[in-house]
Amino acid sequence: VLAGLMVLFAGVAVFLSYMMSKKAMGPISNAFNRQKEFVGDASHELRTPLSVMLSSIDAMEMTDGVEEDPFAQKLLRNMKLEVKRMTALVSDLLVLARADSGGVERSYERFDLNIEAENVIESLTPHAEANQISLHLHAPDEMNVMGDRERLKQLLYILLDNAVKYSPDGGHVTLTLEKGEKEWTMSVKDEGIGIHRDDLPRIFDRFYRSDKSRTRALGGHGLGLSIAKWIAGIHNGSIRVESEPEKGSTFTVYIPLNQTASTAKK
Ligand code: ADP
Repeated sequence: VLAGLMVLFAGVAVFLSYMMSKKAMGPISNAFNRQKEFVGDASHELRTPLSVMLSSIDAMEMTDGVEEDPFAQKLLRNMKLEVKRMTALVSDLLVLARADSGGVERSYERFDLNIEAENVIESLTPHAEANQISLHLHAPDEMNVMGDRERLKQLLYILLDNAVKYSPDGGHVTLTLEKGEKEWTMSVKDEGIGIHRDDLPRIFDRFYRSDKSRTRALGGHGLGLSIAKWIAGIHNGSIRVESEPEKGSTFTVYIPLNQTASTAKK
């Protein structure tokens, strides 16, 4: 399993440098198609061994001799955590690689953001409750919006997950949805560790993490906010952040109401 992990780390590094070098290329359609194909293949090649490793670890945990050995169990738990982190990293890298290649299909539809917000909150509740963090939703009764449902859900998940991750035990996280005349907004407010003024302009950069020693222990790879910014961007929207160290942060997403109801490419 360890050897497999090392090979995978090397694989991801090669994959990443390939993607970065491709980014410098012009929009030649053949290269563009090859790029899309490569992303698809790489996705499969990287995900399959990771899921095989995960199920192997599960099986090893229940093997005679290992099951009763606390040290072996600890090693396996660590491995599982790293494999899960790697799976999340691969999936984030693929989102960004697809975004760079410009070949992302966007399916626009009208949907009720309230329902999706409730679903995202529900999926994060066990993790939040484990740290006595409460999640609140303030929204109007009707919150129909136009956009890419899955991607907007992902954006919401990234902001709420961060708010929980960077909150102390017992904190409150509030999601507010609002609809104005020209745009709708969603804002995620926490009472967490906050972000230093010097870090604010850089937190949307890829792989940027403000306080490495502190944030590393909390997991993550510094890609969530770059993906969030990209999702707001494909809706012609933006994200702003206000934050004060030790007091908390508020991330607000602004999306114009006049989206085109079509499947578009960007
Ligand atoms: P990750 O959370 O995986 O490190 P992100 O791209 O989501 O990556 O965030 C980048 C950095 O911005 C984080 O490492 C953290 O330093 C900071 N950050 C993001 N959200 C918050 C928040 N709600 N409170 C405090 N810091 C945050």
